[in-house]
Amino acid sequence: AIGVTALTLSACSSGDSGGSTGGETKASADCNVGISMPTRSLERWINDGEQLQKQLQDAGCTVDLQYADNKTDQQISQIQNQVAGGSKILVIAAIDGEVLAPVLEEAKKQDATVIAYDRLINGTENVDYYATFDNYKVGQLQGAFIEDALSLKTATEPLNLEPFAGSPDDNNAKFFFSGAWDVLLPYVEKGTLVVPSGKSPKSDDDWASIGIQGWASDKAQAEMDNRLSSFYSGGEKVNVVLSPNDSLAIGIIASLKSAGYTPGDAYPVLTGQDADKANVKAILDGEQSMTVWKDTRALGDRVFTMIQEIVNGDEVEVNDTETYNNGKKTVPSYLLDPEVVVKDDVQSKLIDSGFLKASDVGL
Ligand code: BGC
Repeated sequence: AIGVTALTLSACSSGDSGGSTGGETKASADCNVGISMPTRSLERWINDGEQLQKQLQDAGCTVDLQYADNKTDQQISQIQNQVAGGSKILVIAAIDGEVLAPVLEEAKKQDATVIAYDRLINGTENVDYYATFDNYKVGQLQGAFIEDALSLKTATEPLNLEPFAGSPDDNNAKFFFSGAWDVLLPYVEKGTLVVPSGKSPKSDDDWASIGIQGWASDKAQAEMDNRLSSFYSGGEKVNVVLSPNDSLAIGIIASLKSAGYTPGDAYPVLTGQDADKANVKAILDGEQSMTVWKDTRALGDRVFTMIQEIVNGDEVEVNDTETYNNGKKTVPSYLLDPEVVVKDDVQSKLIDSGFLKASDVGL
């Protein structure tokens, strides 16, 4: 459990308590945190940002929380403002992991410590730590779920698969895809899985061509509409859709519905990630098969701990120093464990833990 230690409290005294002594001013500046989140359009980022903000404020830190409407320029100027405003620790969930190097250069000049939150930031030395869920494992869980749900190991008839991938500018998307594709590609190669649309990457590295920009539900829906009308018009059925996350799954569900698919009646296996309310409802209604749940509270707690360690001058605990090379360095990382949630787990995992309220999902 993350307790607010006396040490942290003294180091994180409120930044706007005018008249503080020089010593306190310096300490409070140390716990001056800028949090930069990608968008309010997805529940998870709202929860992520607000929880961390509250935890830090309760510990007496000064916090500036910003959302960037999925616009890269907006995120850059928000981070610039945070640095100019004295943030000494930056927690950033990057919209585009490739474009933040220049602003982080400025941050470093002000001695800020940078934590990449959930998504890695590439092409810069100036990322100190990375806290995330094990992104490759997210994909593996989706792939293994499909393997089991369709009994691929013993299947004799070919089954129709439509794979999707996440936003090409999000470093996580390739990890999600390769985790899933490492499980599924052998079945595609054997012919157990067939991809009628032909949108079947030949390798893990080929994923971006089927990526949905900005993780947008409407783009996923349009893409699925296209595939269904172009490649399934002769009455063929899609048996499984690999969706990397819940926002894409929402669009795919809408598309399946309008093409006449109904739960319980040759409805495809459909994956997801995030345990968003609408998707958990869809799982309860049989419109989505699973979601990979990443308890964002645990990620917030981990980053809170990292910030305490930074503020207190302690060593920052990490559990992975090999996986996440950003082109300039391998960023010391803390990876958390994602887990599968299916219909039967909704109560025990999501509701009993307080992640969602029963009323959120119509229970
Ligand atoms: C996150 C996912 C999320 C996606 C879209 C990814 O970087 O890890 O949890 O579904 O972005 O926001």
